[in-house]
Amino acid sequence: MKPHGPIPPGFTADDDGMLMIGSDRAEALVDAAGDTPLFVYDSALLTARVAEWRAAMPDNVQLHFAMKANPYAPLLAYMARLVDGFDVASGGELKAALASGMAADHISFAGPGKRDRELEAAIAAGATLNLESAGEAERALSIGARLGVTPKLAVRVNPDFDLKGSGMKMGGGAKPFGVDADEVPALVRRLIDAGADWQGFHIFAGSQALDAAAIAETQAQTVALAARLADEAGAVPPLVNLGGGMGVPYFPGDKAVDAAAVGAALAETLDARDRALEDSRFAMELGRWLVAEAGVYLTRVVDRKVSHGETFLVTDGGLHHQLAASGNFGTVIRRNYPIAVANRFGGEAVETVSVVGCLCTPLDRLGDQVALPRADVGDLIAVFQAGAYGASASPATFLGQGPAREMLV
Ligand SMILES: *Cc1c(COP(=O)(O)O)cnc(C)c1O
Repeated sequence: MKPHGPIPPGFTADDDGMLMIGSDRAEALVDAAGDTPLFVYDSALLTARVAEWRAAMPDNVQLHFAMKANPYAPLLAYMARLVDGFDVASGGELKAALASGMAADHISFAGPGKRDRELEAAIAAGATLNLESAGEAERALSIGARLGVTPKLAVRVNPDFDLKGSGMKMGGGAKPFGVDADEVPALVRRLIDAGADWQGFHIFAGSQALDAAAIAETQAQTVALAARLADEAGAVPPLVNLGGGMGVPYFPGDKAVDAAAVGAALAETLDARDRALEDSRFAMELGRWLVAEAGVYLTRVVDRKVSHGETFLVTDGGLHHQLAASGNFGTVIRRNYPIAVANRFGGEAVETVSVVGCLCTPLDRLGDQVALPRADVGDLIAVFQAGAYGASASPATFLGQGPAREMLV
């Protein structure tokens, strides 16, 4: 038997043992959607998460949603009313962000390899470009000149440190992301001298960290770096985007990040900040921490079989919707996501089974030798932490399967 990750708090069963998502039975949601596989996102959990963040963080820090974690249009429209800005990473995401109702001047666009038409769309709309290189800066300036629009430009900094214990390192050393810190002051001068509307810095040092002390240390380094660069450039950054990094517990032994501790440390860091940043505003950009726990992936058992003594529950879902849960999205060692039998939720585990998907590849495993209540053909399996990097980060067309259904409740 191999353990699975912790079921997120806030999920309960009704008297029949059916998983409740918000005020709805999981089975009823599947009926309403028409079929499995289905992603359900619980809006009350989104609201609660944002409220938790705001209660924890100092007042002068804004909350941005990194929409690559979940670009489902109804969820974006919902988040647009809750957060202070969206961070997008492609022309397609920019379009979706604008369609969600988020104001263009609260949208920033990062990401390497922005094509001219993407730069143009952002400048024309009035969104901020987080510049990834000096070359991109020149292209943005000339597009602005051609359009007769003053471009809003921030500089993404490749910091010389990274977030300790983070699942995905985005700073420190040679990177395709951002401008090396040493070259930033000259680039800021160039932007200001060219008449651009310089918006400040974007400094993102890593992702999926659970240790509040590590996040706090990175934020302190980030604020110090922003102050040094502002000082060297001789200009006050209107906004310093401190990045994100707050992760979620996916795997056995993972503990939720202590948001209150992150917020308390950040308040101290900002209170003690250098005068170079006295008039700056600050933001954090979060993806998975805001949306992962609100999502549940529901898939139905199609077959139950035994091979060489191992029991398999074969479902109608799989890695084409939940690549990360299958262990094939940037994880080194495959471990089990939180998983349950939705219609025996909270029931006693009586057997060890492997929950697999319907794809003809051994990679397609949602739960590897997990202890679960008995499940048979027709029963529902729930995979948790499914609100981020699920539907949009999985190869939905692989093997001709097609996308899962999605719904916001
Ligand atoms: C992916 C990404 C995020 C979001 O990361 P999470 O781990 O989902 O919070 C934030 N900022 C940037 C620049 C990113 O690339």
